[in-house]
Amino acid sequence: MTDLGRRLVTALPGPRSAELGRRLSAAGARAIAGPTAPSFIDHAEGAILVDVDGNQLLDLGSGIAVATVGNTHPAVAAAAGAQTAKLLHTCAMVAAYEPFVQVLENLRRITPGDHAKRSILVNSGAEAVENAVKVARYHTGRQAVVVFEHAYHGRTNLTLAMTAKAMPYKAGFGPLAPEVYRLPNSYPYRDGLTGPAAAQRAITKLDTEIGADKVAALVIEPIQGEGGFIVPAPGFLPALQDFCQAHGIVFVADEIQSGVARTGKWFASDWESVVPDVITVAKGIGGGLPLAAVTGRQEIMDSVHPGGLGGTYGGNPVSCVASVAVVEAIEREGLLDKALAIGQTITRRWTGFQEHDPRIGDVRGRGAMQALELVDPKTKAPNEALARAVAGHALSQGVVVLVCGTFHNVIRLLPPLAITAAQLEDGLDVIAQGLARN
Ligand SMILES: *Cc1c(COP(=O)(O)O)cnc(C)c1O
Repeated sequence: MTDLGRRLVTALPGPRSAELGRRLSAAGARAIAGPTAPSFIDHAEGAILVDVDGNQLLDLGSGIAVATVGNTHPAVAAAAGAQTAKLLHTCAMVAAYEPFVQVLENLRRITPGDHAKRSILVNSGAEAVENAVKVARYHTGRQAVVVFEHAYHGRTNLTLAMTAKAMPYKAGFGPLAPEVYRLPNSYPYRDGLTGPAAAQRAITKLDTEIGADKVAALVIEPIQGEGGFIVPAPGFLPALQDFCQAHGIVFVADEIQSGVARTGKWFASDWESVVPDVITVAKGIGGGLPLAAVTGRQEIMDSVHPGGLGGTYGGNPVSCVASVAVVEAIEREGLLDKALAIGQTITRRWTGFQEHDPRIGDVRGRGAMQALELVDPKTKAPNEALARAVAGHALSQGVVVLVCGTFHNVIRLLPPLAITAAQLEDGLDVIAQGLARN
């Protein structure tokens, strides 16, 4: 057991991590061999990652929104551990098992809307997005897929085409999948548009450049993740949803980062009572084990013939029992409310900073998904150097903070919801120091 505080016993990286870093770069492709934190982690608990040198790091990233209920949550770990001794694999298409059904039932219950729903389970977020597009194309008999500026939907060939940013994601990896079209998003800090006005701008482009009757799916992150934690202006998502409904376009919410209690509701769509036709879920739903899902209206999902969707590992038994434990933990521990409280603490501190630091252009987010957009105060130009310096300071102090945004100028917080009030204040103090010193 750790004492649950941040505690450094060496400079970072410590000697054992430094040695592992050398082994990593000698054997790992450089495309992957550059982790944000220089420490190698031995074990973790709640919001604390303990590295191989005994340093206790404070985690404000949850392994990119995966460890939402907490790192190595005891109930999740116990369920997964017990399952490994019982049944590791059958392939759910060969022979299924109860945990697989439990996950499907949970998805039916926790996703927005009380219409008839059906789900499939896959392994990764990108795979879920690919399958959502397959289903929408099959159902509509149309081909075009509409996505947004600053979007991130994954790194497989189709999802790369859907992702906005060239570097580091797309550059050099073409040709990418065709029939993907990009529309302007709603970015209140930069475009100053109301939600309905931003939606109209997107719809006009869709109508004039693609044609609504060609569009199978509109895929959107209700809060954009990698693109900069951009929360659309109120009314943007509902207006797009209405347009999709009127034109037979499948409205797909990619909630891979924003879902599963992260924003203080089960899904970010719930904030505006948006009921997506199809929703993609991954990251937090597995509590650390790989699991992803596509959940949608029954008539859409079941338009696909039996055997038309699947894969060897989707809904693996260990991932499924972990997911069941995640959902139980969220309910038992009141984590939706906890996410809201975390959001209030962060917002209170950060709007305070903003009053005396004009480089903080925007403070935004919902629940435990919060961001600081750093800019040049005169021009609003993205301030990547400051974001890098603040994140670098935090990392040197043992606080794991991630940067995001098309221009790398957004500090994002995705703390595990198991974080204590004292841990959160400590992390925010370190970020404040980073801002003050740079
Ligand atoms: C992470 C992410 C994905 C891709 O998920 P992987 O599991 O990495 O394939 C897709 N969409 C969003 C919004 C994400 O944040």
